[in-house]
Amino acid sequence: MDTLKELFKVGNGPSSSHTMGPQKAAAMFLERNKDAEKFVVELYGSLALTGKGHLTDWIIKKVLGEKRTEINFCPDIFLDFHPNGMKFFAYQDGVITAEWLVFSVGGGTLKELDEYSEEDIKYYKYTTMHEILEYTERKGISLLDYVLESEPLNILDYARMIIEVMFASVERGLTTEGVLPGALKLKRRAPSFYQKHLNKKDLISLVFASALAVSEENASGNVIVTAPTCGSSGVIPGVLYALSRIENIGKERLAKALLVGGLIGNLVKHNASISGAEVGCQGEVGTACAMAAAAAAYLKGGNNNQIEYAAEIALEHHLGMTCDPVMGYVQIPCIERNALSACRALDSCNFALLTDGEHYIDLDTCIISLKETGKDLNPNYRETSLGGLAKSKIVR
Ligand code: SF4
Repeated sequence: MDTLKELFKVGNGPSSSHTMGPQKAAAMFLERNKDAEKFVVELYGSLALTGKGHLTDWIIKKVLGEKRTEINFCPDIFLDFHPNGMKFFAYQDGVITAEWLVFSVGGGTLKELDEYSEEDIKYYKYTTMHEILEYTERKGISLLDYVLESEPLNILDYARMIIEVMFASVERGLTTEGVLPGALKLKRRAPSFYQKHLNKKDLISLVFASALAVSEENASGNVIVTAPTCGSSGVIPGVLYALSRIENIGKERLAKALLVGGLIGNLVKHNASISGAEVGCQGEVGTACAMAAAAAAYLKGGNNNQIEYAAEIALEHHLGMTCDPVMGYVQIPCIERNALSACRALDSCNFALLTDGEHYIDLDTCIISLKETGKDLNPNYRETSLGGLAKSKIVR
């Protein structure tokens, strides 16, 4: 498994796989072909089908140069390796001088065909929760200890920085009124939720408001943290910001909780997928919910087994969740879904803490089920906007 710095990334929304990944790929291709007179970029599968709403073409042109870049959408081409394929071509004197096929596999991460990812095994010795629980029990250490001994030395500093960026995006979103970009013309709702929270002062209204705030910032293309993706970036900040305010939890503990939640996200990313185009929304918001549940369980004093159970419950009850963004925008159902899943993360945490951590289905089984379910999902429900809510008539 890779470092958590690859999971929690600071960047601009609205999509880690459709905006941040292509942005990074375009920058890498540009670096290698600075003098090209023209670029052509073919977008395949999900990138072609929802690229417009996710600003894929816009960001690639922005990086490579608006005037010298042509984007070809190829929605009928689904490459076996991953549905988010893209091919870059550089031209000089009308002749192709370089080409590069690359895949945006979720969370802003890029992979090439048949790439053997040595990085994946560099940081973590154990890559299933079963092995990790055995190891931590044998050594008498916590899940946080396992993360700290596996990661680079400065990971806590990194987590502190990530908490700052997350909370800045919450606070911007709580006070920014207006309409979200795009044809849906959705009104931002976080500020009105926050005003109601200020009267009620309860936890749940602040969880809703904070998660909405970040998701609305993401939909506006502003700076957020992938947690684990842009589309699911509201869940963890929704939980952590609300807990920090209502239960007066300091940033040091929040940074540690983030690392515990990160371990769960890393397990899903390594053993299944966090890409909506590959496995549907169960891999994005489902994973975010499991991460937030584990982080909350850590903050509330859960032991290793209870933390694992909290994550497992959260993930199990998102299995099969489809990705069908209306008109390809990361807005409906995404924004509301982040808020609801943030609350579900707290429910999962509270449920697990009422047990001794014993349970029937373990997290590893649930992660494998997610992967299998994702494979079985009709492609219409894997970030193509061809089915489900995306096909419904929006009556306003
Ligand atoms: S439905 Fe879920 S997976 Fe699909 S774009 Fe929205 S947040 Fe991402």
